[in-house]
Amino acid sequence: MSRAPRPGFPRPDYASIDLYSPDRRPVPVDLCDNTNRWGAHPDALAAVRDAGVERLTRYPVLYADPLREAAAEAFGVLPQQVTTGAGSDDVLDSLWRAVAEFGGSIRYPAPTFSMIEPLSRMNGREARPVAWADAIADPSVLLDGDPCLVYVCRPNNPTGYSVDRAWIDALLAAADERAGGFTEDPVTGSPGGVAPVLVFDEAYADYADDTLIPLAVERPRTLVIRTMSKAYGLAGLRVGFGIGSESTVLEVEKSRGPYKVNHVAEVAGAAALRDEPGWVAATIAEAVANRERFVAELVRRGLDPLPSSANFVFLPVADGRARDLSDAFREHGVAIRPFVAEAGFSEGIRVSIGPWDEMARVLDVIDALRKELER
Ligand SMILES: *Cc1c(COP(=O)(O)O)cnc(C)c1O
Repeated sequence: MSRAPRPGFPRPDYASIDLYSPDRRPVPVDLCDNTNRWGAHPDALAAVRDAGVERLTRYPVLYADPLREAAAEAFGVLPQQVTTGAGSDDVLDSLWRAVAEFGGSIRYPAPTFSMIEPLSRMNGREARPVAWADAIADPSVLLDGDPCLVYVCRPNNPTGYSVDRAWIDALLAAADERAGGFTEDPVTGSPGGVAPVLVFDEAYADYADDTLIPLAVERPRTLVIRTMSKAYGLAGLRVGFGIGSESTVLEVEKSRGPYKVNHVAEVAGAAALRDEPGWVAATIAEAVANRERFVAELVRRGLDPLPSSANFVFLPVADGRARDLSDAFREHGVAIRPFVAEAGFSEGIRVSIGPWDEMARVLDVIDALRKELER
């Protein structure tokens, strides 16, 4: 019996993946990765200090149950409807492996979160983006070609755009139609037909005050992704969540494996989720107010930022300009993130929102670079 030759090492579909290498040289005002510029949750910092050396010699809790319980409480769901990971990137990775077969495809409106394409390829799955304009006009195009997974970032990174409920409903209806209607088997929990798993990345939903969590826990094969890296100010601890029905979460937990969230991250994350002092809500409110004020300042200068539901603003710039502009901002002590043009989408720069003194500094740089910002 003959056997197909092994693809070799590295695999051809893998060899062209690069290391993630954004410009990380330190600058006085770093507004390039949408983290919380007000700092980290004070209760999380206290939990880190109190974490206890003797716990470090032992393995953490298998599936981070205390953290799941705190997340369930914070998000208004049951603990068995929450999976955890070392950042939401890790939850996405577990989900990809759990639901997409080798060679299967992932569809998503693009441009979107930069990890989706490499994450798909690393796992031997095919990334098949759809231009945002096409996806907005008709969400069912995301189902073309029978993908294993459909990923929608809401609000979207890097544009700040949040698809509305009518669009979500149309996507769900189209997915149900493909599946011939969901008739979940009461014993095995497996759905009646074959429809893609739908994943809604809510890394920035804290700033939009709108979540699909209630939908995800009711609907099979649907997962909402949340993170502690942005509004909670804990990017360095690496804590993320997947929230969905018990049967969906169970499959992701199997792929996640034990011991993913370390002990310090678990206790600090749980303390921040409880948010007793209301710190998260306060910094979110300030970020949203500063976002609106910043957008108004840009418009007053004749610039044309995209409306944003997140803690960042995308400013379209002339083609071929984003990288040079990013370098110029850096020379003025401010880091922002450049984005080159993607099919049907403008080139631009993304500016995270921080305390107003930082935004005022960005506006000074914008005034200094006025000519370069014209389109
Ligand atoms: C920042 C970000 C994340 C968070 O990733 P972590 O691994 O949790 O730090 C997830 N999704 C999107 C769209 C993001 O922008």
